[in-house]
Amino acid sequence: MTGTTVKDMLTALAGGETSEALVQAHLKQIRERDEAVGAFLTVDEDGALQQARDIDRKRAAGEPLGSLAGIPVAVKDNINVTGLKTTCGSKILADFVSPYDATVIQRLREADAVIVGKTNMDEFAMGSSTEYSALKKTVNPVNPDYVPGGSSGGSTAAVRADMVPLALGSSTGGSIRQPASFCGVVGMKPTYGRVSRYGLTAYGSSLDQIGPIARDVDGAARLLQAVAGHDDRDTTSAYDEAPDLITDLEKDPGPIKVGVIDEFMGDGLDDEVRAAFQTALDRLTAAGAEVVHCSFPHTEYAIPAYYLVATAEASANLARFDGVRYSHRSTEARNLKEMYTHSRSEGFGPEVKRRILLGTYCLSSGYYEGFYLNAQKVRTKIINDFQTAFAEVDVLLSPTCPTTAFKFGEKTDDPVSMYLSDIYTVMANLAGVPALSLPVGADSKGLPIGAQLITPRFTEARLFQLACHTEKLVGE
Ligand code: GLN
Repeated sequence: MTGTTVKDMLTALAGGETSEALVQAHLKQIRERDEAVGAFLTVDEDGALQQARDIDRKRAAGEPLGSLAGIPVAVKDNINVTGLKTTCGSKILADFVSPYDATVIQRLREADAVIVGKTNMDEFAMGSSTEYSALKKTVNPVNPDYVPGGSSGGSTAAVRADMVPLALGSSTGGSIRQPASFCGVVGMKPTYGRVSRYGLTAYGSSLDQIGPIARDVDGAARLLQAVAGHDDRDTTSAYDEAPDLITDLEKDPGPIKVGVIDEFMGDGLDDEVRAAFQTALDRLTAAGAEVVHCSFPHTEYAIPAYYLVATAEASANLARFDGVRYSHRSTEARNLKEMYTHSRSEGFGPEVKRRILLGTYCLSSGYYEGFYLNAQKVRTKIINDFQTAFAEVDVLLSPTCPTTAFKFGEKTDDPVSMYLSDIYTVMANLAGVPALSLPVGADSKGLPIGAQLITPRFTEARLFQLACHTEKLVGE
């Protein structure tokens, strides 16, 4: 019952299979595999079984059921679920239990999904390998010598290892697509504003989005469908109707113009990743797509601009973790000032401290114009580059990452090389456009390779349709 698609699971449930049995099978898989993989920080066995039995009872009574009725879902540990810990992978929140549900969780409950547990992540979602979690090591289920990617590494590893068919992640600069690419699953970052962030711990508020992770495009579409849409409790959430992602998902997309970003295809791109990407592109062209070369001349400024904007916003967002109302409080302090400094010094890990310092520095008087303001200008240029490209093409296709998964420890001593692994993903966050990564092959070591599709803002239905089309062609 594990390792199949959500669609097949829904069919089995409609045909008499119980959600309790489905959830039991996944809990068994977690017990058997997670000691080695380390995807989960919390597994709520009793809660999950209770939810499953409630749904089975509703089904037996003929009551109307939600779109994900009985399907197990895992949740990244920066999204609040009532009664479960929200650690954000940090010592500073290691004991924090959420008193409320995030909007996405409320919507999952309305869809009758079963929340199984919370997944590991880089501390406060700052990282690209999940190695910066202060609480646990997560390995890539494909090969345990390699990182799962990050920051949503726990969620992608859980899906890859068939411990859940669906998981939620969050993306500020690539934290869903990059680990999806490394683990060989589908991961998607919605348009900025498409999904409510109420109950998501803020990292870079002008960039953050919650998004779906699944084994296939269909599963990811179903999960996004369940959680998307306006929410009065998030003032950045869009008023647009959430689109219907399912009805036309498998329809022939008609004539397509695919844009290839020339700047992504140069130095730094691994040969095997390039070859797998080219094969996917060739399949699309053989099926009738027209390829257009697009230029994104500001690509080289994307990483610096992203790491300035993200850290600036993080330095403000993380100010709330001061040991006063919640989060770790130092027992060593003799006065208020020491309580703040000791609590934060003891609670935050080195990467988070680095980001707070960098963000504070680039916002400070005398440096603001040179760093933060220039980063915002680059951001506008990148938005314009997307607009120029989308005037001509329907979709942009690129490798998701320049390489496949790297080994543990390979980049932890060199923050810049870690930052550079986000080179192809950050631009979609800076511009607020939706983007999806899907598996398109593996390298000679057997490590998965992902390709990224990007479409204009609020065109998720088209993005998923094109991804479904690509998935079929690559699978053939
Ligand atoms: N790796 C990027 C960072 O560390 C992206 C993280 C994310 O998307 N949350 O900021």
